[in-house]
Amino acid sequence: MLVDLHVHTSVSSPCSQIEPRLLIRAAAEMGLDALCVTEHEELEGAEVARRLGDEEGFPVFRGVEVYTDMGDMLVFGACRARYPVTTPFVELLEEVRSGGGVIIPCHPCRGSLGFHHALGEERAEFLLSNVDAIEVRNGGSTPESNLAAEAYANRYGLPGVGGSDAHFIMQIGRCLTVFEREIGSEEELVEEIRAGRCRAAYAAEVERLRTSTLWR
Ligand SMILES: [Zn+2]
Ligand SMILES: [Zn+2]
Repeated sequence: MLVDLHVHTSVSSPCSQIEPRLLIRAAAEMGLDALCVTEHEELEGAEVARRLGDEEGFPVFRGVEVYTDMGDMLVFGACRARYPVTTPFVELLEEVRSGGGVIIPCHPCRGSLGFHHALGEERAEFLLSNVDAIEVRNGGSTPESNLAAEAYANRYGLPGVGGSDAHFIMQIGRCLTVFEREIGSEEELVEEIRAGRCRAAYAAEVERLRTSTLWR
């Protein structure tokens, strides 16, 4: 199952130009099986996209991208409606754990030399021993940054996931997560990530993906 795990829409992310109904149609047309909408600090855009997904018969799962003192985190399965400008990582972690969700550092090595350089040894170790996966294919990061993130995932035995981080429609699906099993709910999404039954990929590595005619 092919899922873009990281998309921003114009509903809650002012930095995004993506209109949610067009997003769903484009994702279906290009051959994705599902999408996760992950706005900055807010669940509303994901709620809107999920309702439209229900109407269009295309699965949309809700997440949020939360800015923390240890970098940006994708959260699934235990999202607040709204987060402050910065959430302490420790607070977010406790909340996600008690809510049964997953927490995933996204684009961790973008513009930096990695966790240990950015956070210092002790905090980096704490972070890496507490997250559920690492985003190792991010559509807005360089191949070098993605490889650096992947090296962390390998070293810490964490699942690697991928998402486009799309803010424009033509960016959808440029990175994605390939799940081994069908996912029908957010609970299953969380379960499959936690179990590591997934891998990250670039769109170019996945044969059945097409370019949507919507942006030609
Ligand atoms: Zn981010
Ligand atoms: Zn993002």
